[in-house]
Amino acid sequence: MKLVFATNNLNKLKEVQKLIPNTIELISLKDIGCFEDVPETQNTIEGNAIQKAEYIKTHYGYDCFADDTGLEVVALNNDPGVFSARYAGLQRDANDNMNKLLDNLKDKANRNAQFKTVIALHLNGKLETYTGICEGQITTIKQGEKGFGYDPIFKPNGYEKTFAEIDLDLKNKIGHRGKAVSLLIENLRLTIS
Ligand code: IMP
Repeated sequence: MKLVFATNNLNKLKEVQKLIPNTIELISLKDIGCFEDVPETQNTIEGNAIQKAEYIKTHYGYDCFADDTGLEVVALNNDPGVFSARYAGLQRDANDNMNKLLDNLKDKANRNAQFKTVIALHLNGKLETYTGICEGQITTIKQGEKGFGYDPIFKPNGYEKTFAEIDLDLKNKIGHRGKAVSLLIENLRLTIS
């Protein structure tokens, strides 16, 4: 079975490809000739995931799934949330975003935060969503070189290392996207068996 994963983010593709059973072949946006920016203009993470999946189904005709992720920081009223990618501006730069977040948390004792991923699946005329959450703490400095986005400043609860210091297999096992993908896979198994 072939399924489009509506992303241009190679890191996400790599993460999800590792989790998906090899009976399902993941197709990227590039593979279907979609080179434009897929709109994500909703004001919730779930809304953006649904918008992206619906855009691909409507404009390209493929069954697909799309994900949207945000980092919700308790002391900042759950910001940056749906604005995580452009928190420090439209240049969408990971370092700028992390610097702004660290700066905004400078005087805050509460550093609790969570990553939230919502996956929207458009399959056989039905749309479903799956949510994965990973709770943790924002560090005071960047630590580690692996991963992407906010990984160097996020320490998942129960671990002494940031997401940027642990292997992808462990990140996938305990992380937000891995949890959402597990729910997606469970559903795909039921649908295609
Ligand atoms: P989006 O889901 O690609 O829109 O991601 C929103 C923002 O969250 C971007 O700045 C990403 O770099 C960041 N982000 C998404 N997933 C992760 C992750 O697993 N770790 C760290 N940052 C992430």
